[in-house]
Amino acid sequence: MELTTNKEPLIDWNPLIKHAKQAYKNAYAPYSNFHVGAAALDADGNIFSGCNVENASYGLTVCAERNCLSFAVNQQSAKINALLVYTEQEKLTPPCGACRQVIAEFLDQGAHVASANHLNNLQVWTVKQLLPDAFTPKLLP
Ligand SMILES: [Zn+2]
Repeated sequence: MELTTNKEPLIDWNPLIKHAKQAYKNAYAPYSNFHVGAAALDADGNIFSGCNVENASYGLTVCAERNCLSFAVNQQSAKINALLVYTEQEKLTPPCGACRQVIAEFLDQGAHVASANHLNNLQVWTVKQLLPDAFTPKLLP
């Protein structure tokens, strides 16, 4: 019998999908019309959500994942154990490069990040899979 190291995460993604889907509805995306919601689960079982917020000065746009994590910090959340991104795109939406760096700041390398959509598709990664050899606070003197 073959041993596997790729175990299914023990995370119930359904509450995160529910919260991220609600946040998705609040997205401010008049330029791209690419709505995104995100939800993060902390060690105390709290769920925090966020949506993408665009700006007429496009570079100032902030993704749902970063807004979600900022909200969690603002609410004095415990350690974030999981994060989920929700879109209504046929292809699942992984976090962008900037968000991967911010995710690596607040989630352990072995923590799970998922993408879900309205078609009930779900893909799960570890933080390490999304951003190998991440620059993290552990590297600071
Ligand atoms: Zn992003």
